[in-house]
Parts: sequence; structure tokens; C-alpha cells
Amino acid sequence: MSPELVCFNPDCPERYAIDAVLYQCPKCGGLLEAQYDFAGVSPAKLTALWDARRLSREPLDVSGVWRYREMLPFIEDTAHIVTLQEGNTPLLDARRAAEYAGFDAIQFKHQGYNPSGSFKDNGMTAGVAQARRLGMKRVACVSTGNTSASMAAYAAAGDLQAVIFLPHGKIAYGKLAQALEYGALTIQVEANFDQILALVRRLTEELGIYLLNSINPFRIEGQKTIAIELLDQRGWKVPDWIVLPGGNLGNVSALGKGLRELKQIGVIDRLPKLAVVQAAGAAPFFQLFESDADGEIENVEAPETLATAIRIGAPVSWEKARHEIRTSGGIVESVTEQEIADAKAVIGRCGIGCEPASAASLAGAKKLRAKGVIPQDADVVGVLTGHLLKDPDYVYHYHTGQLATPGGEKIESTFGNQPVVMPNDPGKIAAFLQSRE
Ligand SMILES: *Cc1c(COP(=O)(O)O)cnc(C)c1O
Ligand SMILES: [Zn+2]
Repeated sequence: MSPELVCFNPDCPERYAIDAVLYQCPKCGGLLEAQYDFAGVSPAKLTALWDARRLSREPLDVSGVWRYREMLPFIEDTAHIVTLQEGNTPLLDARRAAEYAGFDAIQFKHQGYNPSGSFKDNGMTAGVAQARRLGMKRVACVSTGNTSASMAAYAAAGDLQAVIFLPHGKIAYGKLAQALEYGALTIQVEANFDQILALVRRLTEELGIYLLNSINPFRIEGQKTIAIELLDQRGWKVPDWIVLPGGNLGNVSALGKGLRELKQIGVIDRLPKLAVVQAAGAAPFFQLFESDADGEIENVEAPETLATAIRIGAPVSWEKARHEIRTSGGIVESVTEQEIADAKAVIGRCGIGCEPASAASLAGAKKLRAKGVIPQDADVVGVLTGHLLKDPDYVYHYHTGQLATPGGEKIESTFGNQPVVMPNDPGKIAAFLQSRE
């Protein structure tokens, strides 16, 4: 069987060519998923090949996505690939974070170390490769920030025009700055993310522009290598839990698919449990699991959180995400603005740092520990999705006691670190330093 796009709806048997320009099943509207035949693939040969590539200087071998290209066989001609040496992100031990959340240990897979500073790069290199393979000249996305930063970078590197749609006024500055610097045509619309996505879906169809939102099945293919690289870094030792933030739920869908495929091939023999954490003000997926997990998701009309990367009321990939949570025996949690802010500061104190949405992983892990869902001695990996410097306003406001929730409630700077203003007086400064020893 050659690679195909398969409808994700279990009641719909439709399959499509891998080079069909589709984002959803034309028959039933279901999400699409790339499927491959991995029968006969030897896990030992595969991992040996990936090991050997670590000695190679070839750009595709150096990429933390394309090193694993046997898992992404939808691309036939590697000339279509644009790499910025994405992936290769560290897996870090974080003692203070473990203590804070009540675990013996915790590791963070820090996707903020990517070229544009978020995990979106893992997916975007794959989505842009497909755009080029299809002969597209323009790519578009609507974004809370990181998708646009990433798409702008890869489009620029791959000679495509990037068209970016953003909700006006509700974006972290670092991300907008990136889109502008990478040369994207940037349109700010007076509407929220979910409304703009509907608009852009129409426009891309009418104008023949390739859509690179996370509904695009090839972005999911790239993002699944986050799980593959993570397991590789652990010598294929499967953790008990992987905890990550959820907005549109493309990332949990991708990690889940990657892990399932590794298990199918025999590279790993069991699946880690996946825990998705949402911000309480934008938690439709959490609410789905709280009510009737078999039912339909109920969108949140006006999602609110300072963690703008997960400020999503109508998650595109919720059905895939539900499948991955269930297949892995995982769970969905929600956390408050205060819990996110404090967890973020603790991650900072580890010398690691991350953007607000990423810290939902530690905040959620702490909550699941407190509820007894995850034991103290569990082997836990948190995914940090974006870089600390994506949202410097948030950081400054937290540490100086000026951060408030979207509803106007003060967020306590529990781990605040105020800069101190002093006169140009060595005696006074020396006395101050001694008092703080
Ligand atoms: C996109 C993003 C998320 C949310 O990921 P989904 O795939 O939409 O669930 C979380 N954190 C950061 C930093 C992001 O950029
Ligand atoms: Zn279908």
C-alpha cells in the first residue's frame, strides 16, 4: 500500500490520494490522516539507521524531523523539503520543577529550542514540503502567533509567499515580530481565532492557497517526530506519562500517532499515557471529558487565557485527540491562570524557562499528582512547547506584580523577582547585597 490520506471518521471508509489537496473528508467532513504500510519494517534496523545518521553532516540527517523520515514516507522527492535544522530539542531534568509538583523527578522536552522557538517548526517543515510538492506558490494560516512565526520562516526559506491572519490585538509581541521579520504578508482581523479560521478556509479554497493550519494532516506528520526524538533520547525507554498543553489539540494528536506507529513497528512495546492540560478559560476538551466523553465537543464561545497559544474555543483536532487520550489510557486536566503563572516561574528558576502555554504542562502534572492520578515516583515527561522570550510582557508583569487575568483579577507573583533600583552608592549596594546573601 502506498501512502494515502484516510478519513478519521470510523464510520467513513473514504481514502484519498496522498497528493490530493484536501484538509477534510469531502464526503463526511471528517479529519484526514496520512496512513502508511509499515509491515515488514525491522525496528532494530530502523533505530540503527537513525543512530548512524547522527554522524552524518547531510542537512536532512541533521534535522530532528527528517532524520526519522522512514516514519514520514509521504514525501517521495526529498528535494521538496525545506529544513532549518528543526527538532534536535533537548530533554532536560528539572529538579526544582519536580519538587514543586511533588515528583521524584521530571524531564522536559523543550520544543522552544526550535528555529522559530516553538514545536510548530516540527510540523511546518513537513507541511511546507507538501506545499512545494503540490506546486503551491502561496501558503496561509490563521494563528495565535507561533504557527504564523513558523510558517513565515519556512515559507521564506522555501521561496513561498506566506499569508498570515491574526486576531487583532490578541497576540504576543515576540511572535508578531517574527512574522514581520520573516517577510510574511500579515493581516490582522477584528475577530477571534475560530472566526478567522472559518474565513481563511473559504479564502484559501477560492484563491488556491495552501492552508497550513493544524488541520493540515502533514503538519501532524512532522509533529509526531517530537515523540520519536523524545523516545530516541531516552534509548527507547517509554515514560509512564507525557504531559502537554492543548489548544487546537493537533500536538497531542501528533504525539499519539507517532507513539502508536512506533509501537506498531515494534520500536517500543507499550504506550505512555498522554495527559492534555487546558487553561480553565479555554477548556472545551476538558469539559468534554468531564461530561460525556462519547459525545460531541461543546465549543467555548469566548475563550480567555493569558496563555495565548492555547486560547482556543473550538479545537480543530478534538476527535483525533480523544482517540489518542483513550488509546493511551490518558487524561485531560485544566488549570487556572495563577497555576500557569506560578508553574512558569518555577520552570524559569530551573534555568529553563518557557512561554505561558507551555507551563500548563507542569501546572497540570502538579494537579494530577495532587489528585493521585500520577504517582510520585512516576516517570514523567512534560512538553514545553514554546520559548520564554515569545512573551516577555507576561514575564515582566508577573515578576513585578502587575499581571492580571483577562477578567481583571490580580495574579499573585508567588515567585516574583522584582528588579531593585538603587542610587549610585557602593556602600548602599554592598549593604543590600549582604542583606540578600
Ligand atoms: C500551538 C501551541 C500550543 C497548542 O498546541 P495545539 O496543537 O494547538 O494543541 C501550545 N503551546 C504553544 C507554545 C503553541 O505554540
Ligand atoms: Zn469521511
